[in-house]
Amino acid sequence: MHYFGGIDIGSTAIKIAIIDEDKNLVGSTINASGSMFYKYAKKALDDLLSELKIDNEDLVYIVATGYGRKLYKEANEKISEITANAIGAKEAAKGECDIKTIINIGGQDSKAISLDSEGNVVNFAMNDRCAAGTGKFLDVVAMNLEIGVDELGEYHFKSTGAPLSINSTCAVFAESEIIGLLGNNNAVEDIVSGVHYSIAKRIIKLVKRVGIKDAIYFDGGPALNEGLVNAIENELGKEIFIPKNPQITTALGAAVLASESYEYFKSEGKL
Ligand code: ADP
Repeated sequence: MHYFGGIDIGSTAIKIAIIDEDKNLVGSTINASGSMFYKYAKKALDDLLSELKIDNEDLVYIVATGYGRKLYKEANEKISEITANAIGAKEAAKGECDIKTIINIGGQDSKAISLDSEGNVVNFAMNDRCAAGTGKFLDVVAMNLEIGVDELGEYHFKSTGAPLSINSTCAVFAESEIIGLLGNNNAVEDIVSGVHYSIAKRIIKLVKRVGIKDAIYFDGGPALNEGLVNAIENELGKEIFIPKNPQITTALGAAVLASESYEYFKSEGKL
């Protein structure tokens, strides 16, 4: 059996997806990127292969994507996150949702991607200049509130009144604003929901740049945060589709492309 690997070396986490010849996901892993992208990505792949009992030589084609993709020298191909995200989203939503708009929030950026009826990327918009509205911002908020990033969703749903407004558009000032709100005895849950609504408003502005077309799909690590999903849905007035493993979909897209490239180059006699 041949296997194909997608490695998404993101700013915050390294995600790896392995698929088989029928494009079934056979395994995946999520590890911190740390400061040594290549070393950690290599170790994460070796660990995953040994856990799945797959020999190195059976992993016949690897596609790398993400911020650190250029550093992964063993990759057979390197592709942009936009392409990998679009392919992975289609694969993750196959049979469930006909995606036209992708929202992706990562560790250090956020993106909106518009697809045509065939699923090709027709337009995209990206915020990679400012931490507000990214996973990193949520990490800093959680740290200031002394809760885990995976608890933000739970706190969001505990909030009763109207969400507090967070007006600062810069993550650094927003952090001071949150500390000020804590000092004024505001409840953690109300601050959390205020943060989610402020991110939702920013991301919707980004999505409007490419056009909001149904169905809308959301992935990246912050899509695991049900409170943020709730805020985006309420601000949009529409339901959004979240895949089962929203943090690994870009890696999955790279793996799908790896299997297609392998078949193509083999049929051309180049492998
Ligand atoms: P990148 O590709 O840029 O490394 P990811 O898509 O991996 O980014 O997203 C990383 C972000 O996901 C983290 O900064 C964190 O805010 C968020 N995240 C990760 N795990 C969870 C979780 N269990 N619940 C909520 N948010 C999470």
